[in-house]
Formats: sequence, structure tokens, C-alpha cells
Amino acid sequence: MAEAPRIDPDLVDRAADVLEASGFVTGHNADEMRRDAATQRKAEQREREKAAGVEVFELKMGPAERAMLAEGQAARGSQGIPYTATEYLLTLLRNDNRLLEKQRGKLDGRMCKNCQKPLPRGCGGTWARESRCLLARSEIALEL
Ligand SMILES: [Zn+2]
Repeated sequence: MAEAPRIDPDLVDRAADVLEASGFVTGHNADEMRRDAATQRKAEQREREKAAGVEVFELKMGPAERAMLAEGQAARGSQGIPYTATEYLLTLLRNDNRLLEKQRGKLDGRMCKNCQKPLPRGCGGTWARESRCLLARSEIALEL
């Protein structure tokens, strides 16, 4: 498929302003040009994000979780500015990842008294069902 020619959306925007001001095009046509520029901008944004490895996720959320999300966005925002849903959820994710690293840091190197092997590998799961195995206990401790 041939690639569409790249048109600078900012230039299109400015051209719409100039043409409208000069009376060469009607406000209706200028609006159409601005809309095309906005579409072009969005397409370019999506391309940049895709190249950066950004992925869009769909999230199913019931009314109770929606209410919690709205409450969290408002209450956790700073200076009266609520978080967007994306900012809020990504912040929670980063915070939990920080906590997880910290918890793992405390466990790594500790010796299991049952199998005499250090974490994080430990027995590798051989004693996964044994409550006296430190690996099994640490996995439970890391659960949310
Ligand atoms: Zn063990």
C-alpha cells in the first residue's frame, strides 16, 4: 500500500485561519480543514505511541468499581485537580511495582530452613505445598 503524503496539520490549521480571514473560503470549509488537521494529528499521535510500544487496553468495570475509580481520581489528585483514569491506574500500578520490588528485596537471599536453599530460587517449587517452605510462604506473602 502506498503511503499517504505527510501534510503538516499545523500548517493546515494556519492555512484554514488565513483563508477564512481573507474570505477565500467559508467558515464551513475552514472548519473542515481544521477537522482534517485534527484527524491527521491524532493519526500521527497513534503512530508515535505505537512506535514507543504503548498499548491500549480495554477494561471492564462494574458500577461499584467505577465509583471507586472516580473517588480515587478525585481524592488522590493534587491541588483540586483530579487524576485522569489512566494517570490514576498507572500510578497505582507503579506504586504496587515499587512495593513488590521492596518486598522481593527483603526476601531475596533468605535461606529456607526446610530445603536449605536461598530465595528467590529456593527449592524451585519442590516443596510448594509445604507450609514450612520459605518459598511457598513468600509466594503467599506477595499475593495481593
Ligand atoms: Zn523450601
